[in-house]
Amino acid sequence: MNRKRSIALYRRALGLIPGGVNSPVRAFKAIGIPPVFIERAKGSKIWDVDGNEYVDYVGSWGPMIMGHAHPRIVRALKKTAPKGTSFGAPTPLEVELAMRVRKAFPSMELMRMVSSGTEAVMSAIRVARGYKGRNKILKFEGCYHGHGDSLLVKAGSGATTFGIPDSLGVPEDLARHTLTAPYNDLEKVKHLVNQYPEQIACIIVEPIAGNMGVILPEKGFLEGLRKICDEKGILFLFDEVITGFRVAYGGAQELYGIKADLTCLGKIIGGGLPVGAYGGKEKIMESVAPLGGVYQAGTLSGNPLAMAAGIETLEILKSRRVYHDLEKKTSYLTERIFESAEEQGVPVSINRATGMFTLFFTGGTVRDYFSAKTSDTKRFAKFFTEMLDQGIYLPPSQFEAWFISLAHTQKDLDKTIEACDTAFKKI
Ligand SMILES: *Cc1c(COP(=O)(O)O)cnc(C)c1O
Repeated sequence: MNRKRSIALYRRALGLIPGGVNSPVRAFKAIGIPPVFIERAKGSKIWDVDGNEYVDYVGSWGPMIMGHAHPRIVRALKKTAPKGTSFGAPTPLEVELAMRVRKAFPSMELMRMVSSGTEAVMSAIRVARGYKGRNKILKFEGCYHGHGDSLLVKAGSGATTFGIPDSLGVPEDLARHTLTAPYNDLEKVKHLVNQYPEQIACIIVEPIAGNMGVILPEKGFLEGLRKICDEKGILFLFDEVITGFRVAYGGAQELYGIKADLTCLGKIIGGGLPVGAYGGKEKIMESVAPLGGVYQAGTLSGNPLAMAAGIETLEILKSRRVYHDLEKKTSYLTERIFESAEEQGVPVSINRATGMFTLFFTGGTVRDYFSAKTSDTKRFAKFFTEMLDQGIYLPPSQFEAWFISLAHTQKDLDKTIEACDTAFKKI
């Protein structure tokens, strides 16, 4: 596959943008080849600047559940743009999107629109701290919640309870307020909660983890966290930036029947435009300015284009049939890929939820960050390159989710399975 123009653009970008990319996950660093520069996309396909076509399983890392350039969303944008793209004043569109979101997530009694998932989570954490008057938060190792200072922390060694920042530039004074526990480990959570009585403002979780590869909550995990939060007066914060409107219309909360105190959304609710939202119980959200003392603001918050794309997306998704379709595609693809790997004698483990899954190159069960890390990343890198050369565009890291959209066709899925047969044989 010729990727000359991508390579030339990458060289130029390297002199202008750190690492040539505007988000590190795009850099193909784990693969060791230059990233592909995209020219356009439609439905389940993307085309690079050299004219190569790929079936896309990145889906902009989650938002593109409808497929790319969906005609209804493009139409909504064309209708909205001529009326002005930002006013810095309230609009009917943001009220409409909020109404739709609350219908899907009844626990979000009041909500704020922001411009990214990162912003949503940062703000929700501030609200939790401000409302509770407590500084500490508890997160799970391997869960990503955007790049806010308090959240760029995973566990140090098992003995460490104070967070160690994952990034330079995060003050230790702040990171030490972030406690971490392994995903699916209720005992560790109980231990931490007892160790820091009345100091933890919230427990934040990806109710289905997507950012260490897909990992499902084991039976009783989320219920157990809910119980601990209730007993200890800790707020329970669901980061549904990926799972919201993906695993079900009402996200993981609907799927598992658990109510969060605070919820963060992003990705799908912007229909491919920059959006985030956070919200929760009225009495908690009343602490946000101008009602309360927690400050949070945004010049482009509730942006009309983003709201219009979000509204149209939710309008299509609300016929819940689409989730049945997405589930069928997901199970078909994952079952065939697993069979293909088995036939070629490649040990793999697949975790999946509706519309998202990860193919781990490990034979063992993946239930937390530690077990995810047992995957053979070198083998993944080879697999990725083989797939790319056959026109299948995957997330360029072992520890990410593949996203399926409603636009993926049976032909796309079968082409992907065939490419897997070849790739598994070669690696
Ligand atoms: C993507 C993501 C975020 C951050 O959203 P951005 O829009 O990239 O800032 C936060 N939480 C989760 C679970 C995510 O997957």
